[in-house]
Amino acid sequence: MATKYVYFFGDGDAEGDESMRPILGGKGANLAQMAKAPLSLPVPPGFTISIDVCQEYYKLGKKYPKGLKEEVAKYLDKLETSFGKKLGDEKDPLLVSVRSGAAESMPGMMDTILNLGLNDKSVLGLAAKTNNPRFAWDAYRRFIQMYGNVAMGVEHDKFEKIIAKVKAIRGIKEDPELNVDELKKIVEDYKKMYKKEKGEDFPQDPQVQMWGAIGAVFGSWMNPRAITYRKLNNIDERVIKGTAVTVMAMVFGNMGDTSGTGVAFSRDPSTGENHFMAEYLINAQGEDVVAGIRTPMDISALEKQQPKIFKQITTIRNRLEKHYHDMQDMEFTVQEGKLFMLQCRNGKRTGPAAVKMAVDMVAEKLITKEQALLRVKPDQLDQLLHPQFDAKALKAAKALAEGLNASPGAGCGQIVFTAEEAVEMDKAGKKVILVRKETSPDDIAGMYVAQGILTSTGGRTSHAAVVARGMGTPCVCGCAAVVFSGKDTVTIGGKSFKKGDFISIDGSTGKVYGETIPVTPANVSGDLETFLGWADEIRAKSKRTTPSGKTVKGFDVLANAEQNEAAIAFRFGAAGIGLCRTEHMFFEEPKLTSFQKMIISNTTEERKENLKAILPYQEKDFYEIIKAMEGRAVTIRLLDPPLNEFVQAETPELAKALAKKLGVKNSVIEKKYAELNEHNPMLGHRGCRLAITYPEIYETQVEAIARATAKAEKEGLAHDVRIMIPNVTTYQELKQIREQALAVIANVNKELGTSLKFQIGSMIEFPRAAATADKIAEYADFFSFGTNDLTQTTFGFSRDDYSKFIDSYLDQKVLLQDPFKTLDEDGVGVMIGLAEEKGRATKKNLHLGICGEHGGDPASIELCYKLGLNYVSCSPFRVPAARLAGAQAVIKSKK
Ligand code: ADP
Ligand code: MG
Ligand code: MG
Repeated sequence: MATKYVYFFGDGDAEGDESMRPILGGKGANLAQMAKAPLSLPVPPGFTISIDVCQEYYKLGKKYPKGLKEEVAKYLDKLETSFGKKLGDEKDPLLVSVRSGAAESMPGMMDTILNLGLNDKSVLGLAAKTNNPRFAWDAYRRFIQMYGNVAMGVEHDKFEKIIAKVKAIRGIKEDPELNVDELKKIVEDYKKMYKKEKGEDFPQDPQVQMWGAIGAVFGSWMNPRAITYRKLNNIDERVIKGTAVTVMAMVFGNMGDTSGTGVAFSRDPSTGENHFMAEYLINAQGEDVVAGIRTPMDISALEKQQPKIFKQITTIRNRLEKHYHDMQDMEFTVQEGKLFMLQCRNGKRTGPAAVKMAVDMVAEKLITKEQALLRVKPDQLDQLLHPQFDAKALKAAKALAEGLNASPGAGCGQIVFTAEEAVEMDKAGKKVILVRKETSPDDIAGMYVAQGILTSTGGRTSHAAVVARGMGTPCVCGCAAVVFSGKDTVTIGGKSFKKGDFISIDGSTGKVYGETIPVTPANVSGDLETFLGWADEIRAKSKRTTPSGKTVKGFDVLANAEQNEAAIAFRFGAAGIGLCRTEHMFFEEPKLTSFQKMIISNTTEERKENLKAILPYQEKDFYEIIKAMEGRAVTIRLLDPPLNEFVQAETPELAKALAKKLGVKNSVIEKKYAELNEHNPMLGHRGCRLAITYPEIYETQVEAIARATAKAEKEGLAHDVRIMIPNVTTYQELKQIREQALAVIANVNKELGTSLKFQIGSMIEFPRAAATADKIAEYADFFSFGTNDLTQTTFGFSRDDYSKFIDSYLDQKVLLQDPFKTLDEDGVGVMIGLAEEKGRATKKNLHLGICGEHGGDPASIELCYKLGLNYVSCSPFRVPAARLAGAQAVIKSKK
């Protein structure tokens, strides 16, 4: 049998269903599902051309596969029979919409054409049949505009200018005020302009129109804004392979005051609250709501105007939520008092809303805890941990204006008026608020970098609002008090502002302030705390078998933190510190000076003398971290970076300044600088290699750790301190350093009367360390994979230089992912697996974790779980996301 390309829906039945998203796209699959039992909702009939055709279309150099035309003709016949009208009929024409839809929703990124099938003759038929010429001519002018713009590439502005001109003659503002004659005039002018632009008449043959529209929708898959959207949202083109095309009978929201169009969310997509949130525009077509050209009314107005429709849509809302077990985003249209469903999908939501809905739906028994945990993307949690306005400063500030609170969070920055300006200012390190009448998909890049988005028109379902929520960017929209006074000026609530002036917007309240308001960090509490508690539970209870056959229980999230961040890590729920970088403790004065003196020492004696000065500083810092973590693991890495990083003397001026600060001659610094300077410091004299040449450095650090722990113990504080040795390539390094450390610890115990013991572990950062992990494990109580270096050394890519070529690699798909962002399973993952197998062959329960940048990346966390690591450690701000990602890894592995 030939491949089936086209699927019908309508007449209470459908050939597809919701499970066919990969073939029909989300829109097509859900239309089919809504049309058939058990939902049996009022959906206008139509058919969907599959995503396979989109792939074929590009494979064949923008040509359709054989047999498609015939199949579409057959289905159009079926649609015409079902609806009882014919495409192109001069008396009573069928009009259709031609809609795009990929397997994952990309709102507004691809093209849709409405009212197709109208021409100079059928418009008269439609006018007569409906006894509503105004409607017919409005539909025709919309069609010429959409088709001309979307399918034929005539600039949007050229149409808008014509409308504006006609409106100006009578001084009217809104489109619905246009009368029949004016609409006829617009159609005439549109056609003239079209002919001038395209060198041919506007197509009158509905078949030509339909295939033109189908081609435009397939073509829109590769338009720049769709490509950008996929890139920004990490939509993998190997999984989401193209768009489907749905052709369906039109229903009309623009037939008068008992008609209209709406967009509804079954729960509030901004806060997650369980109340119906819908917007409705009387006498309008769907694209008017989305484009934000008119500000719609709240659904409660529909309740008054058409109570029966309101009741019906409310019932549908409840049924769809029960069916899909998730919040629904719905499009509907009312044609002369009759309701039609045009789309439903799992709605996009902000991070806070995602968490609230997940927690609420578990309480409502709509979903399980595990489903709830899979509902929220780890990245979305960042939005809950975004800074908020400082409460006091906010109270003191006076709002200039108030719009719709479309996407929560605090945004403060300099005004820009275009996406290009936003991108430019962002590059210059400035924070911006994008202020516009409305936004369109062309503004994506600018919206992405903005701290906040403010628009003067459009509702909570306008483009600006939907996209901002997806990005987690604060947004206030439909703020009528924002008036564009000139090219580079705007007045907000009567006060005038120029490009570059500072304003603040509060996406949670919709308020706009003409000043800078300071922001404060957030906390894990309320629903988020409950939610992450479930994640912790699932990880704690988890159990799996590693590829090498070992059983591992639990999966912890630790933080990479020094004394300043330890408190944050604790607040965000870290189970401990997986990496405390001792060199970070010397960034501040007076510690830096004493550390630099130690580095420029010429003799061991001199160095020991200078180390003595450092000891109390280190002890104090360690003590504070141990205290802050209340008995949780604190893993302290001994000095790692090359020493030259601390002797900055690239220029004579720098050298002079440093010499003065350290109280030595210039020549001393110059000589030291030359001595320490390395061709490839990343592979130079660093890490435990320093301790092989200068054992006293690590000995001092170990002494500080032991003394700090002893102090904590004497004060009755709980402690679990671990010592970690970096850059190990051979077990002999570790053996020697371990013996030296044990001797120091024994001395401290003797002196202070304690009996402290410490785990001493090894970082695994080089292929050689992984290959000899069985030997290293004899001297290590734990391994921590330093995956930044392990990636550098496995690939032979320098992290400081790879930016020169990584983009070419990714663009040409030589690599599919940036290996410094997402752990490379095939290479680096194999190294980790090897170390796991060999290390645990020596010590069955060897504790394993990672502390590289990858520890906060969800895909990498999943790999770490699979490989049998006991924990991941990441930056404190990534801890909540990692707690969730870890739980998701556990749940996915069970499936
Ligand atoms: P998008 O993916 O950008 O939302 P859609 O294909 O959903 O594009 O269509 C754009 C607008 O046109 C929506 O508001 C939709 O409800 C409306 N629309 C689409 N098809 C029809 C139709 N057959 N009858 C009436 N309105 C329609
Ligand atoms: Mg839509
Ligand atoms: Mg390293």
